[in-house]
Amino acid sequence: MEINGKTRIMGLLGNPVEHTLSPVIHNSLNQILKKNGVYVPFLVESEGLETAVKGAYELNVLGLNVTVPHKNQVMNALVGTDAAAEGIGAVNTLVRNEEKHGYVGYNTDMPGLLRAVRSEGIELKDKTVVILGAGGASKAVAYMCMQEQAGHIYILNRTPDKAADIAGHMNHLFGRDTMEAWALEDYRKLPEERFLVFQCTSIGLSPNVNQVVLEDAEFYSHVEVGIDLIYNPAETRFMKLVTEAGGQAYNGLKMLLYQGIIAYELWNQVSVTEEQAEAVYDRLYEAIHPSGDNIVLIGFMGSGKTTIAHILEQTYGYTFLDTDAYIEKSEGMSISQIFAAYGEDYFRKVETRVLRELQERTHHAVISTGGGMPLRRENARLLRELGKVCYLQVSEEEIWQRVKDCHDRPLLECESPKERIHNLLTKRHPRYMEAARYFIPAERRTPEEIAKEIQDLNG
Ligand code: NAP
Repeated sequence: MEINGKTRIMGLLGNPVEHTLSPVIHNSLNQILKKNGVYVPFLVESEGLETAVKGAYELNVLGLNVTVPHKNQVMNALVGTDAAAEGIGAVNTLVRNEEKHGYVGYNTDMPGLLRAVRSEGIELKDKTVVILGAGGASKAVAYMCMQEQAGHIYILNRTPDKAADIAGHMNHLFGRDTMEAWALEDYRKLPEERFLVFQCTSIGLSPNVNQVVLEDAEFYSHVEVGIDLIYNPAETRFMKLVTEAGGQAYNGLKMLLYQGIIAYELWNQVSVTEEQAEAVYDRLYEAIHPSGDNIVLIGFMGSGKTTIAHILEQTYGYTFLDTDAYIEKSEGMSISQIFAAYGEDYFRKVETRVLRELQERTHHAVISTGGGMPLRRENARLLRELGKVCYLQVSEEEIWQRVKDCHDRPLLECESPKERIHNLLTKRHPRYMEAARYFIPAERRTPEEIAKEIQDLNG
């Protein structure tokens, strides 16, 4: 990106700011939307906050995010606040207002979470909701549940007075009596029905990944959907307990993503599409989960994944692993039998589970993957987390030459296998390109040359 006389500044006011992921979101958006802007963190002490906000306005800073510990105090330095920020009592986004000569404060945590929740097809209206925790984030969740007219809302906290303050404030603000505050240990008194849970405590946050705010399996048997605001680790213990009990579980990464996107939209007067949001999500995910030391080979059938993986094993000492063989062993069935018995969707989910297992136990391995593995977006992310993903790219004609006499390829057992290859490759090539970190031309070269190139990349 070229910085020139027209570059606009966006940034974050907070203390500390060193670990923020906001630059990943906003600078990715600048790049994707080709905006001449740059986003930087500003470390600001509480005593200097008002001066910093006024100074930023005079310096023509386009927009600012605000984080801990300034989300409340910053309201004294603004020329206005939107209704949600006022109701929640916290501002995380400042938007320039030239008429009023200052910044107007918004809270994008709340609409960010709402957009994340909706993107998963979850509706809040008339639902029974349980909010665990009564800190800063819980206020935004409580406001969202009231605004979206959830049925009954229970807010449970270790310090019950803080939960009571939020419930009292929200009931008053919305002129209802639907939010009730309890002590955390009173969860056993919750009604015998299925509910939606927002996990808003800081328990379970990395590195304390084995901790959870409630352990009781009986509680989880009532959880239809569990949303943990924590996003690191990607799957918290709370989420695991929800899934094990048969519920759906989500982490807070999409909330983080969308609160940033909404701020960016407010500053730049643009609308970010879902496809662009997905691309930013991928970069956020990669920033949190850096790649392991494995080599992952992806590509179409016949692209040479197994051959090259074996050369890397024998010449450079990697452990060889084939995901299809791994799945066949763990499921006790061949891939074709799994497809025939349960369908492709089931198979892709098994692939996701296997990738998570490999995540925990695989190091310095070369992993040869099934040809459809990166089709599921989640699998593509997990592959990149596992190691350096190399796409072995081979032309349609070359693939046909390599596989036409094979009789062990279920996908080619059809009337027109050549056409099948064309259709599948057309669909898969863009997904391979998205998933891969390295693009490796894999024809008219020896397998040894290709293996050497990959080893050099990983070296
Ligand atoms: P906060 O204001 O510090 O509140 C922390 C909450 O956790 C309080 O309810 C606190 O209870 C509870 N808690 C802490 N330790 C506990 C323990 N040992 N036992 C029981 N409860 C305990 O933090 P916050 O700003 O609300 O953030 C909460 C979580 O949400 C954090 O993990 C944060 O990373 C995450 N978050 C995510 C996003 C996102 O974009 N995804 C945005 C904001 C926050 P007491 O009141 O009794 O102390």
